[in-house]
Amino acid sequence: PTDDSHETFVGSIDQGTTSTRFLIFNRSGEPVASHQIEFKQYYPQSGWHEHDPLEIISSVEQCIEGAVKDLENQGHAKASIKAVGITNQRETTVVWNHETGEPLYNAIVWTDTRTQALVRKLKQRLGADKLQELCGLPLSTYPSVGKLLWLLANEPKVKDAYEKGNLAFGTIDSWLVYRLNGGPNKNVFVSDPTNASRTMFMNLRTLDYDDQLIDFFRLDPRKVHFPKITRSSDREAYGRLESGVLKGVPITGCLGDQSAALVGQKGFSPGLAKNTYGTGCFLLYNVGEKPVFSSHGLLGTVAYDFGEGNRMYALEGSIAVAGSSVKFLVDNWGFVESSSRISQLASTVEDNGGVVFVTAFSGLFAPYWIDDARGTIYGITAYTNRGHVARATLEATCFQTKAILNAMEKDSSRKLAALAVDGGMSNSDLTMQTQADLIQIPVLRPQMRETTALGAAIAAGLAVGVWESLDELKSVNVEGRTDFTPRMPEAKSREMFERWEKAVQMSRGWSA
Ligand code: ADP
Repeated sequence: PTDDSHETFVGSIDQGTTSTRFLIFNRSGEPVASHQIEFKQYYPQSGWHEHDPLEIISSVEQCIEGAVKDLENQGHAKASIKAVGITNQRETTVVWNHETGEPLYNAIVWTDTRTQALVRKLKQRLGADKLQELCGLPLSTYPSVGKLLWLLANEPKVKDAYEKGNLAFGTIDSWLVYRLNGGPNKNVFVSDPTNASRTMFMNLRTLDYDDQLIDFFRLDPRKVHFPKITRSSDREAYGRLESGVLKGVPITGCLGDQSAALVGQKGFSPGLAKNTYGTGCFLLYNVGEKPVFSSHGLLGTVAYDFGEGNRMYALEGSIAVAGSSVKFLVDNWGFVESSSRISQLASTVEDNGGVVFVTAFSGLFAPYWIDDARGTIYGITAYTNRGHVARATLEATCFQTKAILNAMEKDSSRKLAALAVDGGMSNSDLTMQTQADLIQIPVLRPQMRETTALGAAIAAGLAVGVWESLDELKSVNVEGRTDFTPRMPEAKSREMFERWEKAVQMSRGWSA
């Protein structure tokens, strides 16, 4: 039981694709202190995308120091932080030496498409069509498995560690937990089902590794150390912080970023959905206690595993490029000075002027799964200006969300009543209004948009009794919500979507 005369806080490590954050939440789910660091993106070749695993660790450590200082400056005690949760970019793959804890290569990021040729070959292998029924995912460049196979085939250090039985494979959650616990000394080597469900090694029904999957990829399980899959909220399994200002504080929650956002948006019952517009954009729809295997281009995945009776599955629509397309207009084309200005530019025109931008920089993900699609701007005339292109860029994510919802209706035979949103790009009112117009249902944006970090804090807090049940969280982050209701006539919205679908077909087939 919590002593209410003392303050109680929960820390949350949010290790995203472009930045790391540490937020400290109170029992009302409000962030009271935070620190954020952007870290380096490596693009060694076209289609390649890497992070330095050690820089990721140091960014986490610095964020913890920074946020705790912020907390103390406000007169709170760091001893009030009862537990820490972790949420992280998913699929991104780290390999390290199991004995020394040293990384063997840069982390290969989820957006990376170097495995295109490898994936084409895997698709022809006998049994390829049975994989999705086991793990919920189709073969594509997206899951971790291809990244690991690429490393084994192309990096002698990785192959060598494999042959010697020293190879540790993990997603970012496992890497963080392992290193924050002190590495090989303690050897806390775990992952949660929401992260493990993105590797293609986990059986979606049993929430454990599946020999059929590992055999299909021709891996020898005696030569790779896989993290033990453990539930997303647990008092013991994730160990504790081994050094720094929060030394000794237990890590008690772990969720992949999109699952964490669903939890942070309190999507605790079947039928609830959230869409997070970050670097990419990810729609998760709670389908209940049994997995649903999509036949319309969505992914079957784990929503969260808070133990017996509190284990939920989701259908997911993943969009590879969302906020990163805005960053592209800023960094590569110099359209505006910062991402936050893009709506202003897009608002200088009344509509897209006939321009459609298929922002397929990493191929197209859900529901299309076209690995060799490339960015394609369609419909340019002498009339087109930068405002139209900006508008078409923002619309691209909204069109893909519409396509995902169409697929979700087919898979679940239900129509969504409203869509909860968050993530950097949801700050754009224009984008959110466009979204409501295109899907013809209300879009609900909470005032506090750090829902991903909140989700990890909830997972951690539940394990140590900061919150006793999910019911207690219903009132968190309700006040101050902005609702965007559809204003565009349905016929117009349908017409725009048809044009988008045509442009998608034109983005195909760019790989050699
Ligand atoms: P992640 O967690 O994936 O790193 P965030 O949720 O922090 O992403 O969102 C960052 C992304 O949102 C960036 O790609 C940025 O371009 C985009 N973004 C941020 N603010 C805005 C805005 N006002 N309008 C449009 N896009 C924005």
